[in-house]
Amino acid sequence: MKQALVALCSAVLVASCATPSREQNLVNRAVDAMGGAERLAGVKSVAFKGTAKYWEPEQSDVPGGEARFANQSEFSGIIDGATRATRIDWVRNFAYPAPRTFNFSEITTPDAGYVVGIDSNGRNAQSLKANPPAHSMSGVRLATSQRELRRGGSGALMLAMQRSPDKVQPAADIGNQPAVAFDGFIVAFDPATGLPARVRSLDYDNIWGDVNYDVVYSDWREFGGLKVPMGRKYELNGKMVTEVAFTELQFNAPIDASRLQIPSEVRADAAKPAVRNVPYQWVIRRQFIGTYLDSDNVSYDTRGSQGLRLQELAPGVHQIQGGSHNSLVVEMSDHLIVLDAPITDAQSMWLVGATRAQFPGKPIRWVVLTHHHMDHAGGVRGLLAEGGTLVVGQGAGAHFRRALEAPMTRNPDLAARSFHMNPIMEVPESHVMSDSAGRQVIVYVMDNPHAKGMLMGWVPHARLGYVTDIWTPGPPLPAKPNPGLASVVNTVKRAGLQPERFAGGHGSTADYQSLVRLVGQ
Ligand SMILES: [Zn+2]
Repeated sequence: MKQALVALCSAVLVASCATPSREQNLVNRAVDAMGGAERLAGVKSVAFKGTAKYWEPEQSDVPGGEARFANQSEFSGIIDGATRATRIDWVRNFAYPAPRTFNFSEITTPDAGYVVGIDSNGRNAQSLKANPPAHSMSGVRLATSQRELRRGGSGALMLAMQRSPDKVQPAADIGNQPAVAFDGFIVAFDPATGLPARVRSLDYDNIWGDVNYDVVYSDWREFGGLKVPMGRKYELNGKMVTEVAFTELQFNAPIDASRLQIPSEVRADAAKPAVRNVPYQWVIRRQFIGTYLDSDNVSYDTRGSQGLRLQELAPGVHQIQGGSHNSLVVEMSDHLIVLDAPITDAQSMWLVGATRAQFPGKPIRWVVLTHHHMDHAGGVRGLLAEGGTLVVGQGAGAHFRRALEAPMTRNPDLAARSFHMNPIMEVPESHVMSDSAGRQVIVYVMDNPHAKGMLMGWVPHARLGYVTDIWTPGPPLPAKPNPGLASVVNTVKRAGLQPERFAGGHGSTADYQSLVRLVGQ
């Protein structure tokens, strides 16, 4: 008995004498500063409201220029701690790419996600079929949504860190803020208050390569003894892309569980959260402008398309079809010319594989980008990997030189490599690419409302033009002409071309005369 007591005492003594690590001290101090572990653990539900503004840097007017204001949103939401289910109801007022409002709700649970309403112009087959519109989240969207909810839930995050000390690892300071690593995040603390200040993830961006994506907490306010950051700024490589202000917050209000339910038939068929190579930045930022295609293949709708394919439009001229974004491939005597490098290097690696099979021994020598927007340029590295020259409009050269020099170690589709040997050519007005047999592809700079330095492609032997974003050939034309459509006709006239058809970076192909008739009205 006496021996047992001695053993017990020494065990207690050892436990109480064990020195917490620097990392554990930072976490413990943060938990205390926020109101203490007991109060944090007492939170069983949260109800909140707020507003948010979004900017997209890679949909700018000028390459490398000011980020595009994307949307202003109002949201209200509930979190149920017991089921770890969250619902957020959104009213999203978009300024870009066109003014419109989407009202929708997102339900996120540990093993499925659900979207009620229309949240994108790029609706997938499941959303189009459902009446009223609704769809389950793809696995990549669910994983992204779960990660961002964890990043935003400051109290739950600190508590999780305190409860899993073995997962809390050393990390380098961020500025003057001491930091720790935890579960995919780097969390930095305010040295004065001890509160968490910044939660960082190390993401991959299809234009800027390896990037830091941070939430910066601010405007701490107290609710029932718990401190909550009511202000949040999201930064991409230090530049603000989202600003959130919570206006109302309530802990432990009764929750209507039915509002967190995903219909069982949807749940049965829903994707589980993706665990590898989640393209977080693509998923997050395509939602900024309301164009996200919710699919586990970011190039095409896995529930609505057979996948990407090369569609022959004319001898030696192929359009990549089957996805949300196309390229044009022109076969020359001993090489290939590709117009546009959309989405990701995964799509580019598909294109490289498909063209190697179809045109053996003909590498991609010219990669032409119609414009710099991330959805039509995000696969540029993959297409340049065969050593080609990048062709861009006037003013975009320095932007792409910087982007290609950025570290790309987190690229899931392409091993890190240097692009300093790839020439970049800026086109001031027009540029002709020809082969030994006389076949040509010509590009012309367009005076247009979409992006500075926009290029139009022209394939003379096929009498085929190629444009992206200012005209989507295929779907019915609008009732009235607009400045984008007029710029296509103006460029054709200025260059003295006589096109039969146009192909697009979106859509398929269309007869040119139909556009002339509309614009001539
Ligand atoms: Zn664009």
